[in-house]
Amino acid sequence: MTENGRLKVVNPATEEAIEEIATTSREDLDRTTERARRGFEEWRGFAGLDRAELFHEISANLRGHADELAEIMTREGGKPFIENRDEVTWTAACFDYYGEIARDNVGYLPAPIEAQQLALVIKEPVGTVACIVPWNYPLLLAAWKVAPALAAGNAVILKPSEETPLATRRMAELIEGLPAGLLQTVYGAGDVGDALVRHPGVDMVAFTGSQETGRKVGVAAAERLIPANLELGGKDRFIICDDVDVEIAAQGAVWAACLNAGQVCTSSERFYVMQSVVDDFVEASRSYVESLQIGDPMDKRTDIGPMINAKGREKVERHVGEAVQRGAKVIAGGERWGKRGFFYEPTILTGVEPSMTVMRDETFGPVVPVVEVGSLDEAIEQANSVPYGLGANVYTRDFEKMLKCMREIRAGTVWINDPLTDNDAAPFGGQKGSGIGRELGREGLEAFQESKHVHIDPKVEKKEWWYPYGPGEEPGQRTM
Ligand code: NAD
Repeated sequence: MTENGRLKVVNPATEEAIEEIATTSREDLDRTTERARRGFEEWRGFAGLDRAELFHEISANLRGHADELAEIMTREGGKPFIENRDEVTWTAACFDYYGEIARDNVGYLPAPIEAQQLALVIKEPVGTVACIVPWNYPLLLAAWKVAPALAAGNAVILKPSEETPLATRRMAELIEGLPAGLLQTVYGAGDVGDALVRHPGVDMVAFTGSQETGRKVGVAAAERLIPANLELGGKDRFIICDDVDVEIAAQGAVWAACLNAGQVCTSSERFYVMQSVVDDFVEASRSYVESLQIGDPMDKRTDIGPMINAKGREKVERHVGEAVQRGAKVIAGGERWGKRGFFYEPTILTGVEPSMTVMRDETFGPVVPVVEVGSLDEAIEQANSVPYGLGANVYTRDFEKMLKCMREIRAGTVWINDPLTDNDAAPFGGQKGSGIGRELGREGLEAFQESKHVHIDPKVEKKEWWYPYGPGEEPGQRTM
């Protein structure tokens, strides 16, 4: 929450304020972008190997502070400590990965127009990149942008969410050895994010957040004609075929829906289950959900922590409430949990309809709405029926079905029998309304590079296709 130039950070498990920090002013932004420009110039003088070595040191330093960073993230974001510790490890791995692949991605040689010539494509940095991220994975989602942007030679200004600035501030302190100004953080809510995107000292924006905000960021970037990489929300689907162990599929399904209290961009939010196994699936999901530990996210036994804030929980309540009012049945959960904190019970719904909000809009909470389907074609048709296209999960042992889902589901990622596993080395992002561009993998580096074509002819000679043209030439005889 921001008030009078101060950001109040609240622990979502207790609803108590943890700390207040100053937000970044317009004048601060001017100074920040100037420092970034100077850092950018100095960074040019670092060879690829030097950058890679620095990145490995950064990674080691983050790993060495994993408990401390995880604790801060848990206090400000409510995600269970266990998950936050994993997040620090993945964040560190992302620096290792980009430190190395950037050494191997400086350009290529296309065939020249004439044999004696040399054509080069040089990959260059864009300049100063504004990286704007949400609260659900504050360090990891920052690293997915910051590591490739820096590795590609850019300067970075990172704005964490107003909900979770503290772990990012600590991570920035732990990232040592870079030129002054190369990586800076700014703090505040949407007004600071908007001012950053519109600042003339910013050359590109890389944004992760909701579809609604992403649209605004995209428009602001388009007005300035700067590139915008947009990673937006989802409404991911989960298909369960009848050839699998339903117990395992149900546990995978509940995990994919309830991880981080359902606040993952790739949270599974719609479950299409084959008719012959639907009853077993619902029963197995109910018993698994009821075995989960809800509570203090600092406790290492806790499976489900609180939601981020009252607004997030109210949205889940609205979606579940509307579904129930229109005939859906609550099989488990469906209520707030505890006396304080923004907890919401993992919830299973049956009898849902495609027109219900819980099946159309991003819920971003721990809800498993189950739909019975008669065929894989029906499941895929319904899976593709919303304007989001981030991820999809399928459980089947049948290779033909795997291939069919792989080809026909419109999503940036299709996971088969292993829900939500990210891979630094493979691109991540959304089709349809879930985003523009990709993070991770080579594409995640190239997103932060400009291509420059250099055409060299070592001989200084007059070309035969220059003036004068002369009469009688047939079309196609001239080279260009
Ligand atoms: P949000 O869109 O409210 O905010 C995201 C960030 O944008 C925050 O830092 C916020 O301060 C900033 N912001 C807000 N208004 C802005 C503006 N006008 N200009 C510039 N910046 C602005 O999202 P959130 O609630 O923080 O995060 C949840 C959303 O993020 C969900 O929709 C989720 O699906 C999505 N998400 C997507 C991915 C992905 O990789 N596709 C990953 C995680 C989360």
